[in-house]
Amino acid sequence: MGAEPDSPATIDSSMAGALAQLREAFLPRFQAAPTEQALRDENAKILGKKGELTAILKGLGQVPPAERKAIGEKVNALKNEVEQGFERCLRDLRAKLRQAELSAPAFDLTLPGRMPATLGHKHPISLVREEVVAVFRQLGFAVFDGPEVEHEENNFTLLGFPPDHPATDMQDSFWTESGHLLRTHTSNIQIRAMKSLKPPMAFLAPGAVYRRDDDATHSPMFHQIEAFLVDRNVTLAHLKGVLAEFAERMYGPGTPVRLRPSYFPFVEPGAEVDIGCVFCKQSDGTRKGCSLCKHTGFIEVLGCGMIHPVVLRNCGIDPDEFSGFALGMGLERIAMLRYGIPNIKLMFDNDPRFVAQF
Ligand SMILES: [Zn+2]
Repeated sequence: MGAEPDSPATIDSSMAGALAQLREAFLPRFQAAPTEQALRDENAKILGKKGELTAILKGLGQVPPAERKAIGEKVNALKNEVEQGFERCLRDLRAKLRQAELSAPAFDLTLPGRMPATLGHKHPISLVREEVVAVFRQLGFAVFDGPEVEHEENNFTLLGFPPDHPATDMQDSFWTESGHLLRTHTSNIQIRAMKSLKPPMAFLAPGAVYRRDDDATHSPMFHQIEAFLVDRNVTLAHLKGVLAEFAERMYGPGTPVRLRPSYFPFVEPGAEVDIGCVFCKQSDGTRKGCSLCKHTGFIEVLGCGMIHPVVLRNCGIDPDEFSGFALGMGLERIAMLRYGIPNIKLMFDNDPRFVAQF
């Protein structure tokens, strides 16, 4: 075309030439595509935003108005041809690939895989349970197991809950038709151990427990771990010593422990236990307070107390000779504190993306 500016006539003819060229070329290009992706790429090179036909279409504005209509119709006709050609080639290609698949040697599904299988992850609750059990094992506690479907006696009565005690209302329970219930805490294990063995004893009771509770921080099924120790001359000082060791080994050296008086029917005295907040701990060991500890620098982790003399007597242990302590914690709460999990429900959703983070 030389250096002369394009005259309307040459724009028109060069456009017609480009259209003709594209009409010649598009089908062989489609047919040469070996895969569906290659075919789609080729189609995009023509019809895409920056495609060849789109570029021609953009030049339409420079065509004299009198010829614009005729050229425009040609462009549209070619566009239809290209679209239909693409569809046809796509169908043919898929049929060809399917045919090749069918005539190829059959898959042997019994062959071992070549990719190494990705390993599963332990659930955060299992992880913290193992950690807590390990800490108490170091302190000399052994694991004692008990059933999840329990007699009312072992779950309430022997622990000092009379039938009309407000605490039995507090813990709305799942009852079976035979009058048994799903245990509402792991304290049934304490009762079973004390009924069947003579002191001294130091046991750990991990397990699932059930209550009619269901919201963002409560689940109808959750996990507790309880530790209890019965011997001669056991005092609150022993309990506090064990708690201090637990806090140090579980949450790091120097983690402070605080006991606040509280009420549970099966202990006297009873206390709730706070540890130094794990979320706002500074590198120098101090806590500056945060929303999770309500700016107190402490977070509640468990309940504890000296086993009530009545409970000891209920299990055939003489409270004048023996005393003991018990402490219990919710494993979900420990896991939430450990890993900064904001909602208890995440732990029961079974979403592999969640579990894979631990
Ligand atoms: Zn805090």
